[in-house]
Amino acid sequence: MCRSPFFLAALAMPIALSSATAVAQTVGPTYQPDSGTVAVHCGQLIDGFSDAAMPGMTVVIESGRVARIVDSKSHDGPSLDLSDKTCLPGLIDTHTHIAEEDEVGDLARFYTMSREENLAAGRRNAQTTLHAGFTTARNLGSYIGWAARDLRDGINSGKFVGPRLQVAGFYLTVPAGGGDLVIPGYDEQQIPQHLRMGVSRDTGEFRRNAQKAVDGGAGVLKLIASGAVLAFGGVPGAPEMTEEQIRAVVDVGHAAGLKVTAHAHGAQSIKDSINAGVDSIEHASLADDEAIALAVENQVAFSMDVYNGDYIATAGVEQGWPDEFIRKNNETTEAQRQVFSKAYRAGVPIIYGTDSGVYPHGDNARQFVIMVERGMSAMDAIKSATSLAAHHMGWSGDVGALEPGRYGDLIAVEGDPLDDISLLQAVDVVIKGGLIFKQ
Ligand SMILES: [Zn+2]
Repeated sequence: MCRSPFFLAALAMPIALSSATAVAQTVGPTYQPDSGTVAVHCGQLIDGFSDAAMPGMTVVIESGRVARIVDSKSHDGPSLDLSDKTCLPGLIDTHTHIAEEDEVGDLARFYTMSREENLAAGRRNAQTTLHAGFTTARNLGSYIGWAARDLRDGINSGKFVGPRLQVAGFYLTVPAGGGDLVIPGYDEQQIPQHLRMGVSRDTGEFRRNAQKAVDGGAGVLKLIASGAVLAFGGVPGAPEMTEEQIRAVVDVGHAAGLKVTAHAHGAQSIKDSINAGVDSIEHASLADDEAIALAVENQVAFSMDVYNGDYIATAGVEQGWPDEFIRKNNETTEAQRQVFSKAYRAGVPIIYGTDSGVYPHGDNARQFVIMVERGMSAMDAIKSATSLAAHHMGWSGDVGALEPGRYGDLIAVEGDPLDDISLLQAVDVVIKGGLIFKQ
């Protein structure tokens, strides 16, 4: 059942380069995030928004942010030599559950898991995710309310190593809905309250719980419009929240300046969510032509986890996940991939989101191959995980591109990912805020 997450303890903290060139950084139990100064000489540069790669560029990062990008020939002074590599902006995953271990087969474990155990898992996942090249992640819900917020705050203060996190506090969901931990065979009374903070019975309660998420420090609101594919009982995609309930959450989120995102598989729920004003849709597996047209018209982004069906079909079976999960997964995987191709061609903004937590943290980049197989250009796949993702998170000023002013978040791979997108599964270098975390 259990898959032990791997990580390298030796890389727990940013690497202080011995050369005077790069980072003068004290490494200890805490570190100063976004304090790095380094010049990176890239054999080729993909900046995250341009349509072509540029040869021989040097990215100069000062005090955590990109100061300038110059032709390497005109750059004087020492630099980190990545002249045999392609540099890209740090990748963004807009759909993770980073505070949770990847053992979805046994949900009842949440009934007894302590916050400390959960945070320990989150710290491992955060580090694994960063080392995989994802310097920013959006955490779309934790069963244990606020687990990812605690992780975020630890990363921001330099206590933990991990990506920049934008977090939803808890799932806004109907009782026994896709974000509630009611499990067949277990007495509902034994579910601890901290697992049900966003469970709401009516519009008023959705509004109050959305406000509770805002007040508690959420950076995004996440609602469950229609049932999870991997949930007990029910039909995949059947609506759970009404349009009015969704609108109540949207109103609270937008009034606070936050993006609101809906988990929705079924066509009706996707349309209800877009009509109610959400900014993005997760999964969108069973979108019909009308839902796609509505998304194009409103420029509502889809994040579609087109890889994880493969993972569940193999590892889920090996690990003995419930038959009902496996069956529902098989029914929706190909359907979702066809919707992905259609939505991309129609002009729906597609933002990179893996639902990691459903499959192992650290495998985030495996989705790129499926996206390209299903008709997306390699450059668009990269943009979906960089500038486009940042735009739809509301974080364009800080991440998603190598551009003066944004954070110095940079990764590098050997070879050209525009020719072979699978190279993004083997990131050699990870720099976040000018500090080198992996080399
Ligand atoms: Zn999810």
